[in-house]
Amino acid sequence: MPLDYPTLLLAIGFAGSCLSVTLFATWLSSRGERVLLNWSVGGVCVVLGVFVYSLYVVQPSRSMAAVAAFVLLLVGLSLFYGGAVEFRRRRVGAWEVAVVAVPALLVTLAGFATGYNGIGFIAANVAASGVLVATVVQFWFARAQAPGPVLGMVVFHVAAAVSFAMCGAKLYVDSNFVLDAAPRNWTEDLNAVVGVIALVGVGALSLGLTQSRLARFHRQASETDALTGLMNRRAIFDRFRRQAIAAGSGVIVFDLDGFKRINDGFGHSFGDEALRRFAVAVRRNMQDDDVAARLGGEEFALVVAPTGPASAVEVAERIRATFALENIVGAKGAVRCTVSAGVVVAAPGQSFEDMLLGADQALYRAKRDGRNRVVADSLKMLT
Ligand code: GH3
Ligand code: MG
Ligand code: MG
Repeated sequence: MPLDYPTLLLAIGFAGSCLSVTLFATWLSSRGERVLLNWSVGGVCVVLGVFVYSLYVVQPSRSMAAVAAFVLLLVGLSLFYGGAVEFRRRRVGAWEVAVVAVPALLVTLAGFATGYNGIGFIAANVAASGVLVATVVQFWFARAQAPGPVLGMVVFHVAAAVSFAMCGAKLYVDSNFVLDAAPRNWTEDLNAVVGVIALVGVGALSLGLTQSRLARFHRQASETDALTGLMNRRAIFDRFRRQAIAAGSGVIVFDLDGFKRINDGFGHSFGDEALRRFAVAVRRNMQDDDVAARLGGEEFALVVAPTGPASAVEVAERIRATFALENIVGAKGAVRCTVSAGVVVAAPGQSFEDMLLGADQALYRAKRDGRNRVVADSLKMLT
């Protein structure tokens, strides 16, 4: 059955409208996901563009309708691009969309300004292809976030980019620089078919992408200590339940000294600031393979990988010394706090729970012996 071009345009209009309405409705229930709004408004622009283009198809004397249609299409595609940037980095500035949209629009308008509408069509198709390629690049850099759906996005965008490029190439190869009607050839039909498929596919995948991102966000929140940004107790226990602790790893348990007094003397929010500053001292002294968590209250754990450059005792000592030098500024002036630490080193097959118990016993000795010190394993004391 030969493809009926106006029907294909209608199908793009329907697909785009459904996509926009669905994305908009989803955005209403999760407003934090601005990316949905970008995609939704982009879809509206594409649908309007297709509608205006069909006015030109039925009456080619409305030459400005073709220009307006391409402007709407390019604005819509640029908003899709903005959605991809936002998906990748969680935010996008209007200027970032403009960096892609403005050159695409200028190329198109310059093409039409030559007075040869065929050149205008070629320029518009190349511009559309360029915006789609820029979108592919954004998705490609975001592929780690959700490899399956992002790969699907890449495939649909590449297909659309190629089909627009082919439309332009066909006009160029046929030297079709002066058009007295909308171009009709197999590349235009293919472009319309790809348009329908890509819009439906992108619509479904964009919902999948935001769902998987929300799920990841919630999982991350449930594993993070809100005050310090370190892992929470549950997360570190889960981590070492899933993955045995490597022999030779060091487990350090830290406990801030006299913290109750600090809270009582300077206020709870000052205490919170001290906890945050301690977490910064931990982060500054840990390696990528180490794992840090707030176990609760003013107690922290750090698992030091055996591959690191310093022993667990050295790392604990560095953190203790760094924190002791911190001036924590509150309403009553600057105050210094100290921390005590207990350290054990893992024997083969030892569980995380056992090691924590051992580190706690060493910590107890550090407290008993005067605080602001690191005690390792048996009775080895460092400061
Ligand atoms: P020690 O030197 O023996 O460790 O004495 P300490 O006062 O630090 O020990 P204790 O366990 O008696 O006190 C811990 C205090 O930590 C009590 C509690 O009010 C405070 N705390 C627990 N969680 C938080 C928190 O999230 N923020 C603040 N500001 N304080 C907290
Ligand atoms: Mg305590
Ligand atoms: Mg304490």
